[in-house]
Amino acid sequence: MSADRADPARIRFALHGGAGELPDDAGPQDAQRTALHDIASAAVALLQAGGSALDAVTLAVERLEQCPLFNAGVGAVLNRDGLPELDAAIARGEDRGTGAVAGVSRVASPIRLARAVMERSPHVLFSADGAEALARELGLPMVDPQAFVIPLRLEQLAAAKRSGSIALDHVDDDASAADAAFGTVGAVARDRRGHLAAATSTGGLTNKLPGRIGDTAVFGAGTFADDSSCAVSCTGTGEAFIRAAFGQAVHGRMIWGGQSLADACRDSLAEVRRLGGVGGCIAIDRDGTICLPFNSGVLFRAWAAADAVIQLAIRRETPAEV
Ligand code: ASP
Repeated sequence: MSADRADPARIRFALHGGAGELPDDAGPQDAQRTALHDIASAAVALLQAGGSALDAVTLAVERLEQCPLFNAGVGAVLNRDGLPELDAAIARGEDRGTGAVAGVSRVASPIRLARAVMERSPHVLFSADGAEALARELGLPMVDPQAFVIPLRLEQLAAAKRSGSIALDHVDDDASAADAAFGTVGAVARDRRGHLAAATSTGGLTNKLPGRIGDTAVFGAGTFADDSSCAVSCTGTGEAFIRAAFGQAVHGRMIWGGQSLADACRDSLAEVRRLGGVGGCIAIDRDGTICLPFNSGVLFRAWAAADAVIQLAIRRETPAEV
């Protein structure tokens, strides 16, 4: 079938709200489940109405940034100085378009800015002041950095400082906080024309050093899409995902190694583990296979396969390929 003929049967979608550890008695995470379900439904409806994969992942990630239950936008974790420094990236499989921003604190929607970088600038990656200047120039909504800060993240920063750790947002020293906000957010989609897209947004790690940039903003690491193979969005220990060149590694294993998406994700995640990292990813391949593997305790995730029914999971209740 020609890649240009629209076919609603091609539609696939998945999103994540972070990977990490969650105590067994942490409760059902109802608020997070509801948010993931509602946002996935909105993205699938957009795809069913003929919208592009790129628009679906942008919509999902922007809405997750606005939701204080996750580590992106409002509710993002804080760096050593108590400030949010947000990273985001978007990838368009059709032509390997990509745009990313790192270390922004005043842009209302980092993923919208990442998309503007891709569509309205001659470059692919901006950081900090330069990224914010571009956002102002392009007329994107700006906010005070305090607009992103919620009390839970101040508590988590204080706990990380006490224990001297630089923590995945959701690895709690204090189990009583376990029912609170969770992780990095991302989305992947395949639209009616068969095009793939990925988007990821995060506050990074609690108590990170100012200026630190994670895998989220790095095309070919935490965010990747190419119509010839797959779309991938990651969450976990960013340094290990960068060193594993995660997205590019999945692509290479499929294209040059002839592996399936599931095997390519599994082997790339094993490499992350070998490099000392934990986490997971959501991925869709060009044939519509969806994989949601992780080597951490949990991966907050929602997806819709060929039947367009929204499914949700947090722990290991479903296989990695769904
Ligand atoms: N991967 C993100 C980073 O290292 C963090 C996360 O997924 O929780 O910035």
